[in-house]
Amino acid sequence: MRNQVHMPRRKLIAANWKMNKTISEAVSFVERLKSSPAPQPGCDLLIFPPFIAIPAVARLLGDTGVAVGAQDIFWENEGAFTGEISGPMIRDAGAEYALIGHSERRHVFGENDETVARKLMATFASGLRPILCVGETLEEREAGEAESTVEKQLRSALSALSRENVKRLVIAYEPVWAIGTGRTATPDDAEQMHAFIRRFVRGVFGDPIAGELIIQYGGSVKPDNAASLLEMEEIDGALVGGASLDADSFLAIAGAIPRQ
Ligand code: PEP
Repeated sequence: MRNQVHMPRRKLIAANWKMNKTISEAVSFVERLKSSPAPQPGCDLLIFPPFIAIPAVARLLGDTGVAVGAQDIFWENEGAFTGEISGPMIRDAGAEYALIGHSERRHVFGENDETVARKLMATFASGLRPILCVGETLEEREAGEAESTVEKQLRSALSALSRENVKRLVIAYEPVWAIGTGRTATPDDAEQMHAFIRRFVRGVFGDPIAGELIIQYGGSVKPDNAASLLEMEEIDGALVGGASLDADSFLAIAGAIPRQ
């Protein structure tokens, strides 16, 4: 059966700064970004600064069209949860997105499929758009379990979502072994996993939702490997860590998107 025809998907290039940049460093980055030529039509930019830099970054970006997100979220709105930041607080600070289930949250801070699912619901409830990160470890890939691992993560995260939720969802495929290591998935391996993710979503929610879903690749994306990944049919953008800390390098990745 032929898949339903859908509008061409936009490319979303996101910068995950992790625990990097003071507020003044974040401001310098945004000033550099604003003084540079805008990316090509069909490409959206998004920045995930540390929580405390969100208000300054969002204010400076103003109506440039570059979006801001939080690197994490807590599932309750308020209360006795020392150190946590809620969805309403993130919205109020000027962000539109939240990153959910990044592999560093899962592997360094012990998050699991259950906490990821709760955070995903909190993101929707507060009107933010989530980027849900999924991906296998090296051991899982070598054991031939890459797809089953990602399927388990997706099944758990998506089980409670409505069709309206999924229309606002972005998924980032980030093989754990490629994050911050300088090793990236080959374009063909990444394409295969992205197609698998889209098939899974199509199986649950059908088209046009699956056809319109943005699926980013993340894992050591750099200006010199971005074009080969971003030209793939199923790869709708990149979630960039290390190479997003420098505005020129981040823009060079966006600039590597093949022109339509
Ligand atoms: C990330 O932090 O999501 C990431 C992909 O990092 P890096 O680009 O440094 O591998």
